[in-house]
Amino acid sequence: MARQEILDQIEKYVKPFRITKGKDFRLKDFDPGDTCGLKMDKGEAEKLLQRGTVWVAEEQEMLYAQDRWSLLLIFQAMDAAGKDGTIKHVMSGVNPQGCQVFSFKQPSPEDLDHDFMWRYAKCLPERGRIGIFNRSYYEEVLVVRVHEEILRRQKLPSTLLSKRIWDERLADIAHFEDYLTRQGTVVLKFFLNVSRKEQKKRFMERLDKPNKHWKFSASDVHERQFWSDYMHAFEEAISATASKNAPWYVVPADNKWFTRLFVAAAIVTAVEELNLSFPKIDDKKKKELAAARAALARES
Ligand code: ATP
Ligand code: MG
Repeated sequence: MARQEILDQIEKYVKPFRITKGKDFRLKDFDPGDTCGLKMDKGEAEKLLQRGTVWVAEEQEMLYAQDRWSLLLIFQAMDAAGKDGTIKHVMSGVNPQGCQVFSFKQPSPEDLDHDFMWRYAKCLPERGRIGIFNRSYYEEVLVVRVHEEILRRQKLPSTLLSKRIWDERLADIAHFEDYLTRQGTVVLKFFLNVSRKEQKKRFMERLDKPNKHWKFSASDVHERQFWSDYMHAFEEAISATASKNAPWYVVPADNKWFTRLFVAAAIVTAVEELNLSFPKIDDKKKKELAAARAALARES
């Protein structure tokens, strides 16, 4: 199949989950168990993913050679939705020099002495690079919104703690992403949409298998009681910040093989839109190359 034909086919799978307009967005319209009617055994899915990762790696090489655009991939999800595994698999073919992963945990005292964007802005990808945010500034309108005591620890002047704070933060984030886009950063945001039922199953597995105990955290189970608050916060965040320039992808995450394939496909289709190519070489450079070749050939 020709490259364009493959891309058209991939786009058909990706499109229904790409949110570019917040109006009318409802999380309940998205099924975490969706696989677009695809059925695959493990081997088939792995083979396809392998092709996807090769493609992502090729695009990354071109990004790097051009040194103009950068790509920011944001991953947000409830625990055990598969962020870590997806990042590991989808980026497995990428040259480590062209890619950086940042995992954002609770802010440090130094972070809290600054505006909320400070620590994230320091980690933005350079031109030609792929930056991955495993959690991001969206935590500031997710976990901080669900647990308002965290907001109280953020040392904001009390007159600024109004009821509108979440709408204000979301507007600030949307503007920040517009700014990044206009600077040549392509921003893609992935919400790995796992169901509450599947999360329970994965926690149980972590408890059952000794080699997965390290992944288990009692506080993750505690957070399950705030599920609907989180879903509300996600819905508001996606509605307020989905745009053509910085789309959200609501990725079905109850089947890991599908999540990984989807994320690779979404990256490929978005980067292909940039129409990247390796930098063209001018006549002067061609002469330089010919001279270098001749010099090497002359060596004894
Ligand atoms: P994993 O569990 O796979 O290692 P993780 O991203 O869940 O990855 P943890 O150390 O378990 O990492 O959790 C990080 C915690 O930090 C999460 O509970 C998250 O909500 C919290 N966090 C991230 N950013 C902020 C923030 N800005 N303010 C408060 N808490 C935050
Ligand atoms: Mg965790």
